[in-house]
Amino acid sequence: MQILNGNEVAKQIKLEIKAEVEQLVANGSKKPHLAAILVGNDGASMTYVAAKAKDCEQVGFDSTVLRFDASITEAELLSEVEKINNNPEIDGLIVQLPLPKHINEKKVTETIKWQKDVDGFHPYNVGLMFKGLPCYLPATPFGIIKLLEHYNIETTGKNCVVIGRSDIVGKPMSALMLNKNCTVTICHSKTVVINSFTQKADILIAAVGIPNYVKAEMVKQGAVVIDVGITRVDDSSEKGYKLVGDVDFENVSKVAGYITPVPGGVGPMTRVGLLLNTLLAVKAK
Ligand code: NAP
Repeated sequence: MQILNGNEVAKQIKLEIKAEVEQLVANGSKKPHLAAILVGNDGASMTYVAAKAKDCEQVGFDSTVLRFDASITEAELLSEVEKINNNPEIDGLIVQLPLPKHINEKKVTETIKWQKDVDGFHPYNVGLMFKGLPCYLPATPFGIIKLLEHYNIETTGKNCVVIGRSDIVGKPMSALMLNKNCTVTICHSKTVVINSFTQKADILIAAVGIPNYVKAEMVKQGAVVIDVGITRVDDSSEKGYKLVGDVDFENVSKVAGYITPVPGGVGPMTRVGLLLNTLLAVKAK
């Protein structure tokens, strides 16, 4: 069994991005600039945005975090998005989700100009992705593809089962694996006898959000197992919680051929996906 080490691969790709930024700047271009909108005080969201800003610094990007109180109205937030849409200094914009309940997330993400939509959530980018055309790919599926490519994992003709059909992970992941010539099955909460599908998967991608959901008996011997799940589970550590994936790592790792750990698997690759999209936003100009 081999660990698919997202931390190591992300580190390597970040060095490549840094070198490319240096070259761009040497050729007279401005540095890529990512803006992030953060609404409210959700602990996980604040951690994610801080990590993205740190990534930008590491690769030589500029970054701006725009923080708003949870009481901001939808109209005010949309107007802030429009301001960034029209700001030529900013190449990419992400809005950290979730947003407070009184704000329509779909409306906000769809207000981001598709040329600055480095999260790849805008319907125009989604359409391009489904057609296999150049676009901003959603960061998590993009990062997973980069990870599979790094380890030269064959996809053509393989059975890929994706568990989860969210707009940000499951659906785009299935489209990208189809583009990589897999035979793709998507499972979800209404799938009947899910084991009968997962046991046939050469590549099994779990994006469910239920800790340790994928058990060893669900996995084919030698399969590639990608664990997207991150759930905060309370424990007695200083932080008060630990991150737990969707895969029962201890037992599934005895059956799988390749497996991503949590943390240190898909998470860092997601962040790299965002950086690659932001670099693309500058190059596309
Ligand atoms: P989501 O929107 O809640 O979607 C979860 C999916 O799992 C849904 O399609 C749901 O089916 C399905 N599901 C729920 N219970 C199931 C069950 N018992 N059997 C089979 N399928 C079931 O979540 P998401 O945004 O895709 O995220 C999934 C997980 O990935 C979360 O833990 C999230 O924190 C994590 N995540 C990690 C990263 C990263 O960078 N590592 C990035 C994004 C998300 P229905 O559609 O039928 O409800």
